Amino acid sequence: MLSRKREVELSELAESIANYYFPTGSIEPSAIAEKKGITYTYGNYGNSFDGLIEQENGHFHIFINTINYSAAHVRSRFTFGHELGHYFIDEHRRALLCGRTPSHPSKIDFSSKNLVELEADYFASSLLLPESRIKQDCLKKPFTFKLVEHLSEKYKTSITATLLKLMTIDKHPIMLVCSENERIKWFKHSHDFPFKWLKKPIGIVPKNTLAGAYFATKEKFNEELPITANDWFEYVPGWQIDRPFFEKCIYSDRHNFVLSIIWEK
Ligand SMILES: [Zn+2]
Repeated sequence: MLSRKREVELSELAESIANYYFPTGSIEPSAIAEKKGITYTYGNYGNSFDGLIEQENGHFHIFINTINYSAAHVRSRFTFGHELGHYFIDEHRRALLCGRTPSHPSKIDFSSKNLVELEADYFASSLLLPESRIKQDCLKKPFTFKLVEHLSEKYKTSITATLLKLMTIDKHPIMLVCSENERIKWFKHSHDFPFKWLKKPIGIVPKNTLAGAYFATKEKFNEELPITANDWFEYVPGWQIDRPFFEKCIYSDRHNFVLSIIWEK
């Protein structure tokens, strides 16, 4: 997890770039690359990477893999933003320039624990969803899944990328749990989320949750539904076991995959 201080730095850097090139409307990463003299190619590169940035004699080139998603798809836009992060974040660019990492292939599935990848992901979400604009959009609105959908349409970002940004703007404490085949792939939460430990056994989706119901019976729920702290979390003090939360799931049958969004009422 990135420190709050680092998130603020990356968010300010990304937002200043977004505001400079796209003071209004949605952000187009490829146009920013063009303005900076970074060349790029979209192509079918098999399944080895989603995005890649290379440097030769001070010239940077970005490859975006469009084998699974078109160039205009929210996933490709995010990948492009991520690769731009490796250029705009000073430490990343210096590493590329001095040849410590002559090329840098990235897989964007949010499961990486590598600090460099986490920073580029956070840069991408902050570039596509500039913080002051998001805060303005959220003003006086309660946190709901509808709000997330609205922002992801407006800024042309995936639900996951939108939540990644939303969970750090102090709007509302949120936890995201991504699970596949009944196992937890990764989870992330706002710094101020009240519970930080998922229920034991570690790595297994708890049965008494919406995600658990999907893996047990393939039952899906369209709405956000009430759950309690005890359903998802470990080390919940006795007097808080019924503390009410909401869970909303996004499903992918093809990959037997569920993204759970959990937040307090
Ligand atoms: Zn990367």
